[in-house]
Amino acid sequence: MSGPRQLVEARWYELRPSHSGQPRTYTCPFCPRKLPAFNEHVLIRPEGSGENRRHAHIACVKKARAAGRLPSREEWLATQPRRPGFFARLFRRGAR
Ligand SMILES: [Zn+2]
Repeated sequence: MSGPRQLVEARWYELRPSHSGQPRTYTCPFCPRKLPAFNEHVLIRPEGSGENRRHAHIACVKKARAAGRLPSREEWLATQPRRPGFFARLFRRGAR
């Protein structure tokens, strides 16, 4: 079971720089250190969704990326087999 602060499993992650003036402290999903919102950090959005977004330290994200985690959408797409286009599928179905 993953806790509410854990990063959800996703096929790809959108990473964007973030910081704000809010007096908030986030919990990084990669380490136990605190992350004040005013510090420059990374906002992680699993598959571009804000629902399960997490705030993480820049160093932690770099380490995770170096370990092959947190693939971007482009990197994930590159691993996917190409699907035949609509017309290719249509004609294949008709051909006997
Ligand atoms: Zn961290």
